[in-house]
Amino acid sequence: MPDFALSPEQESLRDMARKFARTEMAPHAAECDRTPRFPEEIYRKAYDLGLMNLNVPTEYGGTGLGLFDQCLLVEELAYGCGGMTTSVIANCLALEPILLGGSETQKQRFLTPFCSAYNFASFCLTEPSGGSDAGALKTRARRSGEEYVLDGEKCFITNAPHASLFTVFATVDPALRTRGITAFVVPRSAAGLSTGKDEEKMGHRASSTSTVRFEGVRVPVADRLGEEGEGFSLAMRTLDQTRTPIGALATGIAQAALDHAAGYALKRQSFGKPIGEHQAIQIKLANMAQAVRAARLLTWYAAWTIDRGAKGTLESSIAKCFASDAALHVADEAIQTFGGYGYMKEYPVEKLLRDAKLTQIYEGANEIQRTVIARELLRQYA
Ligand SMILES: Cc1cc2nc3c(=O)[nH]c(=O)nc-3n(C[C@H](O)[C@H](O)[C@H](O)COP(=O)(O)OP(=O)(O)OC[C@H]3O[C@@H](n4cnc5c(N)ncnc54)[C@H](O)[C@@H]3O)c2cc1C
Repeated sequence: MPDFALSPEQESLRDMARKFARTEMAPHAAECDRTPRFPEEIYRKAYDLGLMNLNVPTEYGGTGLGLFDQCLLVEELAYGCGGMTTSVIANCLALEPILLGGSETQKQRFLTPFCSAYNFASFCLTEPSGGSDAGALKTRARRSGEEYVLDGEKCFITNAPHASLFTVFATVDPALRTRGITAFVVPRSAAGLSTGKDEEKMGHRASSTSTVRFEGVRVPVADRLGEEGEGFSLAMRTLDQTRTPIGALATGIAQAALDHAAGYALKRQSFGKPIGEHQAIQIKLANMAQAVRAARLLTWYAAWTIDRGAKGTLESSIAKCFASDAALHVADEAIQTFGGYGYMKEYPVEKLLRDAKLTQIYEGANEIQRTVIARELLRQYA
């Protein structure tokens, strides 16, 4: 019999994240969005509470949570601020290739010192020439004795200006397409590595995003993850793991939008009664509530599937795609419920729309998710 009840441990994890999101993140969300500002003091507290390296096993200094528990936390954090949540959970994305493809020695060498202090890591896959077609990436890795020399540029890299560690995907031979892509771990101190200016973004403005350049960066062979040519599969397996929490992040934004809209609908009067008594607004709220619950359940199902050992490509793509579309729609309807005030920056709902938009784009745009869903689906019918 399926059971939707959370264990006492899960309840207490969720309560801790909820308290942090509502007391530490939400009060600063508007200011960090407006400025924009990367709130180090909040991220430090998130690290101290164990919210930053959620997927890293405790033996390497992380929090060691399964995907379902990660999703519970991420939804709560995103309710407080989507942008801060992107920065808080980006280490999970950057460290996953080490967890999946690193040797025991590499895990101890990279993860243990990294997790023992407040640090950021960045996942470097996307390039200026394109992110969806990751097999066509151009950053080169040329073997030179016991080292590789990396040359190229990555773009839109979350937390890059603050990162001390980078997981980098480069090709040993572009003609090999996906079979040439190889993954490396590169410290910020590597000569020839530089990050660009903080990008001016539409949303998630408490997060930091920039280019990363590699100019003759020398990386020891010992810092390669897996074999040459295994990088593409490593990147895809990483995204299979980390896409589901994006569904949770989108659900948190959507829940916040619904709560704001419902609260406003009870107070705002028109034609002599609260707008929540007009059927048009009631239908809006009913549809929003359905979308939020469906997004959460699809996310929970994907996380549960992956925690049981399945690859979960289909389930995680469905969760991410549905929840992010739902978040954008629910945030839009929340603005409509607020009327003109919804369009004003003084009110919280326009930020939710801008934050929701990114969830349709990063970790694989929704057009790509639909391609993946259709491919996985048709395979089952073939
Ligand atoms: C704020 C932010 C943070 C990010 N953080 C990171 C990060 O930390 N690390 C990282 O590596 N990347 C990161 N990204 C990059 C993100 O993953 C890419 O933007 C995304 O994968 C899309 O790639 P693209 O922007 O190059 O769009 P393109 O690949 O150029 O696509 C443009 C449009 O065409 C569509 N499209 C492309 N190919 C197809 C197709 N075959 N079928 C149908 N439609 C298609 C896309 O869906 C999209 O709508 C981040 C992006 C943003 C905006």
